[in-house]
Amino acid sequence: MRSKARINVAKYRKLLEQQRDELAKEMKRLEDQAAGRSGEHELVAAEDFDEPGGDAAVDAVERQQARAMAMEVRQILELVQEALRRLDNGTYGICEVCSKPIPAQRLALIPWTTRCARCAAGGTC
Ligand SMILES: [Zn+2]
Repeated sequence: MRSKARINVAKYRKLLEQQRDELAKEMKRLEDQAAGRSGEHELVAAEDFDEPGGDAAVDAVERQQARAMAMEVRQILELVQEALRRLDNGTYGICEVCSKPIPAQRLALIPWTTRCARCAAGGTC
């Protein structure tokens, strides 16, 4: 009988794949918004066509925010993809700093984390 992994790999894989899909969708939405391709937004812009100046200013701010958020989402997305790779090679759930198992309750909270709470708190960032 093969020794079973301590953590439920299938459960976390499903969770991470779900998150990856949601993040990818969210990132696309934000990138579209940042590029001014949001269909919803175009409708609003058309209604406010009387004030092109003010609208453009709001637009610029919104696009900037969307771009910043897209970058954040992309970072998390990369962490999620990295976590899925770790699931594949069997290092998922192991702290990259102290090599101790990351508590399940922390993984449930941040499934893509690579460090235990202690190492994350005393981390280099
Ligand atoms: Zn650690």
